Amino acid sequence: MPWSAEQLRSVYTNVYANRVVCPTCDGSLKLSRSKAAGEFGRVECSRCNESHNIAQRNDPLRDSFREYTEGERKEIIAADKRRIEPVCPIDRTTMIVYAQRSLALNSQVRVRCPRCGGEVHFKRLYG
Ligand SMILES: [Zn+2]
Ligand SMILES: [Zn+2]
Repeated sequence: MPWSAEQLRSVYTNVYANRVVCPTCDGSLKLSRSKAAGEFGRVECSRCNESHNIAQRNDPLRDSFREYTEGERKEIIAADKRRIEPVCPIDRTTMIVYAQRSLALNSQVRVRCPRCGGEVHFKRLYG
């Protein structure tokens, strides 16, 4: 039986939280990561003979994906300053922080949501 809309929602939430579990049988899903832009990868349950391509365009929340507001950007930067992992305000996924040191005291920081692809760029100052 194909995964229902509700089951698919839980697959997305779980996969982005590193829990790759089948919503029908609770068995682990086989995950084949994709390198394509906007795609996470294909999950597959051999027991239920079910699979799904986890991608931004297939995401049950895709209609809510949008640019961050100015206030949301500030909150993401504030979380990074407090050394807390920023969480995407749209889909509540833990964001990934990429920091690259440029000048002696600065880092160029890119914070990205792996789910909706939202990004915030800013400069982190030390000292
Ligand atoms: Zn299953
Ligand atoms: Zn997001």
